Amino acid sequence: MSVVLITWGAALEGGAVEALTLARRVAEEGGKKLNWLVIGAAAVQAVEVAGRYGVAGLDVIFDAKALSGNDALVAAMGQYCAETRPAIVMFNQSAAARAVAPVLAGRLGVPVVMNAFAMARAGSALDVTATAFGGDTNVVYRIEAPLAVISVVTTTVVAEPAATSAPTVRRDIAVDLSAVTERMPVVSAPKREGPRLEDAEISVSGGRGLGNAQNYELVKQLADALGGMWGGSRVIVDEGWIDSSHQVGLTGKITRPGLYLAAGISGASQHMAGCSAAKTIVAINKDKDASIFRYARYGIVADCLEVLPELIKVAKD
Ligand SMILES: Cc1cc2nc3c(=O)[nH]c(=O)nc-3n(C[C@H](O)[C@H](O)[C@H](O)COP(=O)(O)OP(=O)(O)OC[C@H]3O[C@@H](n4cnc5c(N)ncnc54)[C@H](O)[C@@H]3O)c2cc1C
Repeated sequence: MSVVLITWGAALEGGAVEALTLARRVAEEGGKKLNWLVIGAAAVQAVEVAGRYGVAGLDVIFDAKALSGNDALVAAMGQYCAETRPAIVMFNQSAAARAVAPVLAGRLGVPVVMNAFAMARAGSALDVTATAFGGDTNVVYRIEAPLAVISVVTTTVVAEPAATSAPTVRRDIAVDLSAVTERMPVVSAPKREGPRLEDAEISVSGGRGLGNAQNYELVKQLADALGGMWGGSRVIVDEGWIDSSHQVGLTGKITRPGLYLAAGISGASQHMAGCSAAKTIVAINKDKDASIFRYARYGIVADCLEVLPELIKVAKD
């Protein structure tokens, strides 16, 4: 019996090594081996990473149809699980994993926990801690089932390579997807243009405290001057100041920049779920009791409309 992390796509996504770290801990605690199923070209990068993170078996599916839609993807995963019979199936909770993990659990007829961030053995059971009610509180699920699907949010997990690197056995897994028909084929999807907010090393984000969409231009100017990317809270997406591809948070993008500068953002848990893994958070807020200061390494208690133009000047010098 093994713990398996499932990843797919053209390249490894952010949070993959953090999810591997969590999966390895769970495997070690339960005396199980860690397998990593990678579907698609991301397997090329996975080869480099697997040994360092204590993966015993790297299982690879190279079948173009597996990535053609969610039904094919779930069918490939289901066939893999039927063959290898893992004890725990884990996902790094990306937007795509949110759609796939519950469907796979349904297909396998096993429990699923979404939004998990910690796991610990409790005798023969596994206690899985997950956020609930949009991140306002936590809940601990005790799983006794022989197989469970767990989708992990890795913002609070620090990647940690294995203490010793063991050789990884690579296996090519064949699946038969010929009978799969997509029930909801994607006929139009937004094209990825330019760099992604999730990969930015520097992010500048704005919130309702900016007052209006026009003032949000200051955030864009500072991001440009610092060579970073811009984002914002859900409130300003709902207000139409920016589009949802720039939303940071639980229901937006999960980012892990080196520097996250937040202007006029209160620091609600749902927002912090998307940026608390930043190495350094700098917050500008005129309320000294704003929650964001609990996360910030540097806090500026001031009007962001006064501070941002000064920072832009300094950044441009
Ligand atoms: C299920 C669910 C999912 C959610 N998902 C997300 C998500 O993914 N991302 C997200 O961001 N939110 C999300 N939210 C919403 C979240 O709870 C907050 O409502 C939101 O993050 C608040 O946005 P804000 O900080 O911009 O606004 P506010 O909470 O209104 O905060 C504005 C802040 O600006 C400060 N301020 C005001 N004027 C100034 C000034 N001139 N200079 C400096 N500071 C000033 C204020 O003191 C205040 O702290 C979600 C909520 C739910 C229920």
